[in-house]
Amino acid sequence: EAITVQELANRMAARGGEVVKALFRMGVMATLTQTIDADTAELVVNEFGHRVRRVSESDVEQGLEGTVDADEDMLPRPPVVTIMGHVDHGKTSLLDALRKTDVAAREAGGITQHIGAYQVTVQGGQKVTFIDTPGHAAFTAMRARGASVTDMVVLVVAADDGVMPQTIEAIHHAKAAGVPLIVAVNKIDKPGVNLDRVRQELLQHEIVVESLGGDTMEIQVSATKAMNLDKLLEAILLQAEVLDLKANPNRGAEGTVIESKLDKGRGPVATVLVQKGTLRQGDMVVAGAEWGRVRAMLDDKGRQLKEADPSLPVEILGLSGVPAAGEPLSFVEDEGRAREISEFRQRKLREKQAAAAGAARGTLADMMARVAAGEQKEVAVVVKADVQGSAEALGVTLNKLSRDEVKVRVLHSAVGQITESDIQLAKASNAIVVAFNVRATAQARELAQREGVDIRYYSIIYEVADDVEQLVRGKLAPIQ
Ligand code: GDP
Repeated sequence: EAITVQELANRMAARGGEVVKALFRMGVMATLTQTIDADTAELVVNEFGHRVRRVSESDVEQGLEGTVDADEDMLPRPPVVTIMGHVDHGKTSLLDALRKTDVAAREAGGITQHIGAYQVTVQGGQKVTFIDTPGHAAFTAMRARGASVTDMVVLVVAADDGVMPQTIEAIHHAKAAGVPLIVAVNKIDKPGVNLDRVRQELLQHEIVVESLGGDTMEIQVSATKAMNLDKLLEAILLQAEVLDLKANPNRGAEGTVIESKLDKGRGPVATVLVQKGTLRQGDMVVAGAEWGRVRAMLDDKGRQLKEADPSLPVEILGLSGVPAAGEPLSFVEDEGRAREISEFRQRKLREKQAAAAGAARGTLADMMARVAAGEQKEVAVVVKADVQGSAEALGVTLNKLSRDEVKVRVLHSAVGQITESDIQLAKASNAIVVAFNVRATAQARELAQREGVDIRYYSIIYEVADDVEQLVRGKLAPIQ
């Protein structure tokens, strides 16, 4: 469904820079290695005077993602929000507090259940969906699979603690995903908080809040005292208006798996965020490599639903197995097609697993070939170092290696060992990971293997510079 800007340019035989410019004119900030959704890609294709022919991976999958919605069928849909921020800054408290503002829940009197996302109705009837899995890994894991579910990020910063490492990580994740950010300064009920300090610290990371003349909204809240939650919701709805979020509800459903599990009594259970169309009880669907008829559908208030429209998260029962978070869900006409697609994807999955061993080498070699051929105009890097000084020095050094033809972009640079979150970020943005006097966690190593992300280990700065320079020229020797 998604395509990188570079790949789109290649397919149109256009220059990458021209596509970036066209996107910019449409209000989409994207670099060559970033992915854009099919709908945006289509607008670009039209802009370039071509006709769209969406060809999916195989004939088997054809038609699944092919329906193009006419403008007049597009209706406003609620925004989907992810809350990010440093540990203990109040993400969970804020999610809980926001959930309690739901006016619809009070009427329904249902029992809330945690399904990985929830929707609140605010005073006046407007709706907002929150992804209820705090943690940046979930956000980026989904993006790494090509799923973009979040329309905006609410960045929680504790007023008494200020900008911390995971705050910075969250900023980088949001920027890499190209989604707008709203700052929620939390814990303002605490005595002696210094808001100016927080603003200055954010400024250092290129987040300029409105009071400093920038365009990032800043709302002061207290999650535990439920202060200014209405203002935060207002800001979210305002941002949503700017984004002009729309979907066609009158078609077969498409969505993304947010969470999934195998339940002893109920079998495979998946929480799906509906993104297009309407999902109905009894629909035949494929979700990743699984398929099934939607036997039952429940919302976050535990209510049985017959229908779910765009931006609504629902728990569905009836799938053949447990699809991974980030996998796409699509409506299909009949069981035969569903089985066919599922079998095809299972086979692809097995092939991918078999090929995973050699994958790391493959991706770097691919990158090199693209750079050498002049197709790739950017080398993205994630830097992790043992001390702040090295992380900064590496950032400066690497940025200097940018040339007119190929830019070096440091997506994230921080102190600490390499985690799964770093790998997800690298994977989502087609980047390499530079480890400077640090190691990767076992899980991160395993994930890197599986996803074909390159981690390169160093202890001398000029060696990093040498290698990245080689990479920029498309000539780096592969990892031994
Ligand atoms: P998370 O790790 O970001 O999910 O943070 P939590 O929501 O678990 O909050 C961490 C701690 O900060 C808990 O002890 C909360 O009670 C406390 N906390 C969260 N929000 C506020 C707030 O607005 N004011 C005060 N005083 N404490 C808060």
